[in-house]
Formats: sequence, C-alpha cells, structure tokens
Amino acid sequence: MSTVLVIGAGGVSSVCVHKMAMNKDIFTDIHLASRTKSKCDAIAASVKERTGVDVSTYEIDAEEVPAMVNLIRKVQPSLVVNLALPYQDLPIMDACLETGVDYLDTANYEPKDEAKFEYHWQWAYHDRFKEAGLMALLGSGFDPGVTSVFTMWLKKHKLKTIRTLDILDCNGGDHGQAFATNFNPEINIREVTAPARHWENGEFVETPAMAKKVEFDFEGVGPKNMYMMYHEELESLAKFNPEMERARFWMTFGDEYIKHLTVLQNVGMTRIDPIKYKGKEIIPLQFLAAVLPKPETLGETTKGNTNIGVIATGEAIDGSGEKTFYINNICSHEAAYEETGNQAVSYTTGVPAMIGSAMMVTGKWSGDGVFNMEEMDPDPFMDMLNEHGLPWQVKELGGPVEF
Ligand code: NDP
Repeated sequence: MSTVLVIGAGGVSSVCVHKMAMNKDIFTDIHLASRTKSKCDAIAASVKERTGVDVSTYEIDAEEVPAMVNLIRKVQPSLVVNLALPYQDLPIMDACLETGVDYLDTANYEPKDEAKFEYHWQWAYHDRFKEAGLMALLGSGFDPGVTSVFTMWLKKHKLKTIRTLDILDCNGGDHGQAFATNFNPEINIREVTAPARHWENGEFVETPAMAKKVEFDFEGVGPKNMYMMYHEELESLAKFNPEMERARFWMTFGDEYIKHLTVLQNVGMTRIDPIKYKGKEIIPLQFLAAVLPKPETLGETTKGNTNIGVIATGEAIDGSGEKTFYINNICSHEAAYEETGNQAVSYTTGVPAMIGSAMMVTGKWSGDGVFNMEEMDPDPFMDMLNEHGLPWQVKELGGPVEF
C-alpha cells in the first residue's frame, strides 16, 4: 500500500519503474517525474503495454527545491526514489526534509565541478533526517548497493571478520558501437578517469587511473582485463568493516574502450571545468555526453552477460580458520532487454533500486537518519534479488586472491 515518486527517466529509472509495476501489491501508485517529460511518457507507455499498470508523469527540474516540494505535496508519496543524476541528490534530500518524506538513491552526491565520489555531503544530513523521523537510504543500485549487501551477507553467514575484499565488476556485453557507455556517460567517464584509490591498512592509497590491470576469467563471460579503480562503496564498506586490511574495486574494460577514452582524455574532451566556446561557457565532458549514444538506446543491440560480485577472505564463523568466498550475479543483456526494454547495466541497477524501495515501504528496513546499505539486514534484500531477476550464487575458493 504505497505511493512512490521516482525522479529521472533514464535506463535505470525505466527498469525500476517496470519492476515496480510488476510488484503492484507493494507499489500501489507509481509517479514518475524528470526534466524531459516525453521520456517519462515513453516509460509509462512501455509499462502500460508490458504490465497494464498506469504510471502518472510530470516534468520537474529536481535542482529547484521549491518545485520539488510542490510536486511531492501534490503526489503525497511515502518515498521519493532518486534515479536522476548524483548532482540532484542534495536538492531532492532537501525537498524530502521539507515535506516529511523518505528518500532513496543509487549514487552519492557529486558537485558538478569536482569528481570526488564521497559520502560526506549526504552523511551530513543524518541528524536532520533523524530529528524529522525520516529515513534516507544511500546507494541502492548494484555497485554501490548489491556489492555492499553481498559483503554483509558473507559477514552474517560465512565470515566473522573480513581481512581482504575485492569487488569485481565485469560487463561482458557487446553493444556493437565503437564507443559508448552503459550508464550515464558523464558519470561513467568521471569515475573511470579519476585516480584509483583502494583501502589498505586503515587508509585510502591513491594510484594513477587505470594503472593496475589484471586478467580474470569470469563465469558466463570468459577472460577479461579488469582495472583497479575507486568506487564509492569502498568508503562505506571501510567505515562499517574497520577490520579490513585491504579492499579494492575492479572493473573490466575492452581495449577499444580504453583506446577511445585515452584519445578523448588526451584532447581534453573529458575535462569537467568550463571552457569558453563561441562566447558561451561549456563543459567538454557534458558536450561529449550529448554526442555519445544514450545508454537507454543500447538495449536492443547489446549481447552477452554482466558478472558482478565480491570475493572476501576472513575468519570463518564456524571456527574452521581462514576462508575465501566468491558471491556474484550473472545477468544477461538479452533477457534484461526482453523483460524491460533495457540492457543489463540499467537492469542490474534498477532492480536493486526497486528492492531497496520495497524494503523501505514494507518496513523490512527502517530507521531514522541517513543510512548506507551495510547498516541493514542483508537477508530480505538477498531473498528479493533471487525472486526478481538477479539470482546470486556463492562458492568457496581454494584461498585468497593472488592479484
Ligand atoms: P541517464 O542519464 O540515462 O538518466 C538520468 C535521468 O535523470 C535523465 O532522464 C535526465 O533527464 C534526468 N535528470 C538529469 N538532470 C535532472 C534534473 N535536474 N531534474 C530532473 N531530472 C534530471 O542515467 P542512468 O539511468 O544511466 O543512471 C541514473 C543514476 O543511476 C545515475 O545517478 C547513475 O550514477 C546511477 N547509477 C548507479 C549504478 C549503481 O550500480 N549504483 C550503476 C549505474 C548508474 P534528461 O532525460 O532530460 O537528460
């Protein structure tokens, strides 16, 4: 029995809204608002065709807090699900505080002129959400999101403490384009071009972007090169698992992607500081994002699987010494497209956004304040992953990773 207001109408939102409509018993009334209303209408039309469920649509600039407040008062949701861009996190949280509504997102706040991927701006809202008796859940996508839940599930059921943690994100999909990103190009390229950081002996160690490369044989994909990089869940994982000696994040990239990105970087197209062009200020990366293929258009041509998971080594709960476990999900681009009209990178983010929303509106996850996924009971979330299209598997490895 819940009314939800989803903000943003990209690939992630499309999957989340389709999945909400498929769970009408939990999400009884779905509202969708974004900067471009026609994109909301297209999602609503697809949802109607696939599920028969009506979705109400609106135009909104989520950075305008008074407009957001008006929309929330009109819709009266019990939860605002922010699937726009990280730049909108704080204004949407402000609007939630003003209207007394819970909040969820999938990516941490980013100032437009800095690529930081840090939680402190949103953690600073904790006391205000707590005093208002409201809950904000941060990072309910796959990574961040499921990767944190996987880690905490291992810590609840398999390992007393975690000594080393490696998050492995493989996209084995081929979209047939020379260069494209599978989620918002601006955010994706900001992430990839930022210096790598990993957690080691109580602090973050910074190394140059894409400097450490390892080949790994991914089930359902085959051998792929993966690169060590920074990813925002490392900060919350380190905060809530302070015993960890080392935590790293790895993502696969093909040689073609690296080649294009290197050229774009060398010619200045990935810069996020404003430049003057014909008397007008533009940000090169935003211009690049505007000319690249839209992630939501890649679904039809993308073939292959994603394989995202976590390898953790630590003291076994049953006292049998040090053990290593690998927990992961393999998702098919084609199956994701058939079910929702979107490729697997949107699917693997949109489904956990729906599940996190379900946890909140059903009260399975609750609290007053701003929370990361690590702070919640992993079990009901893990059950829903199995039931709603992202089944996971866990296996014991012979020993710790050697890369
Ligand atoms: P898209 O770029 O496809 O979609 C973003 C949507 O937000 C667009 O519809 C856009 O509108 C809308 N938007 C942008 N600015 C505003 C604004 N000021 N007010 C209202 N709406 C706005 O992104 P994705 O769907 O690929 O990604 C969505 C989010 O999910 C991002 O924050 C991304 O970082 C995150 N993500 C998280 C992952 C995870 O695993 N945790 C993985 C992948 C993505 P318009 O159409 O007009 O441009």
